[in-house]
Amino acid sequence: MMPVVHCPKCGKDHDLNQDVLIAQSNQNVIYRCDSCGFEVKDIQTSKG
Ligand SMILES: [Zn+2]
Repeated sequence: MMPVVHCPKCGKDHDLNQDVLIAQSNQNVIYRCDSCGFEVKDIQTSKG
């Protein structure tokens, strides 16, 4: 099961998959809502 993020801007739920996640050079990733373009940084991942 993919984790789901709730967009605080448009209120939609999106699966945290590689379509919406942008990997950073560090362990953080950025989630970009494809509905409104809102970005959430520093998402906590299960890695490490
Ligand atoms: Zn959104």
